[in-house]
Amino acid sequence: MKSVILYIIKLFFYCIGYYFPIKGFVILCYHSIGDNFSIINLPTTAFQTQMQWLYNRQIRFLSPKEFRTCIQESRLPGEPSVMITFDDGYKDNLENAFPILQRLDLPAVIFLTTDYIGGRAQWISKKIFNRLPCDIGEHPERLGRGELNAIRSSDFVKKNVFYLTCMSDPELIKYLVEFKNVSTQPMLTWEDILYMKDKGVCFGSHTCSHPFLPELSETEIVSEITISKALIENRIGRKVEFFCYPYSILSDRVKQFLPDAGYKAGFVVDQTVCTNLDDPFAVHRVSVSRDMPDWEFRFIFSQGYVWYSNLRDLVKKRLGNFVSLNG
Ligand SMILES: [Zn+2]
Repeated sequence: MKSVILYIIKLFFYCIGYYFPIKGFVILCYHSIGDNFSIINLPTTAFQTQMQWLYNRQIRFLSPKEFRTCIQESRLPGEPSVMITFDDGYKDNLENAFPILQRLDLPAVIFLTTDYIGGRAQWISKKIFNRLPCDIGEHPERLGRGELNAIRSSDFVKKNVFYLTCMSDPELIKYLVEFKNVSTQPMLTWEDILYMKDKGVCFGSHTCSHPFLPELSETEIVSEITISKALIENRIGRKVEFFCYPYSILSDRVKQFLPDAGYKAGFVVDQTVCTNLDDPFAVHRVSVSRDMPDWEFRFIFSQGYVWYSNLRDLVKKRLGNFVSLNG
């Protein structure tokens, strides 16, 4: 019921706001591109359609260098613009997304989780599944109501992935099955990264181990943000100036260390368009999900989306916090 109401509200804002040019700058966040049915995956055809639509619509693709100038001058790009980013560093970014980006000559930023380069996305098991109150096993779809309730009511979930508590049993099972699929996905290798770097892709840091940063000590936070940065810089021979918060959990305790570590910007996913760049360490992004219909993707690039997200944030403030795991 809640999702139907949300759908109608979005459609309403889409209809009234579509023809108003957007006064803002959209930074899109993708994860895996391909056909592997994980929760963070977008089919290659959908990615192709979205990039082609943006290209045909003559929305300006901002390069990381141009973005750097914008944050330095605390100003938005002067025309409707988009920047493409990918989190985590999945192998399929090279296999499926990169050829499309190359064909259209589009710039992009990929945020790497350095401990897992050349491996698989195993932080999902280590950081999340091992901390749930029951073993989800090989077949999360077999979990009973008692186990699902235990997951929803656990302190870990309430604190870090609150939105799981709002899911129905079928939704939570679907989520766990698809999330489990993420943990087996292969990541980029250093050879892949160097290859893409030579073709113009920019790389940022997404920490070493993809931790829940606010849970760590200050020393551990500094290690995560500085070691990952230094490692990427040493390997690719370029400065790493962009950081992406794991799980999109933005906290002042983490944020304060980024400037001294040499970062120029920090990115979150909060389904919000940038209407200013006043805080370069809390840069908004919009995550594109697999179940997002074409019209909803196009909706992001309308002024109606800005009005919708302002209203959504107001309602959230009134009704309580809603933590997103995107990122
Ligand atoms: Zn991530």
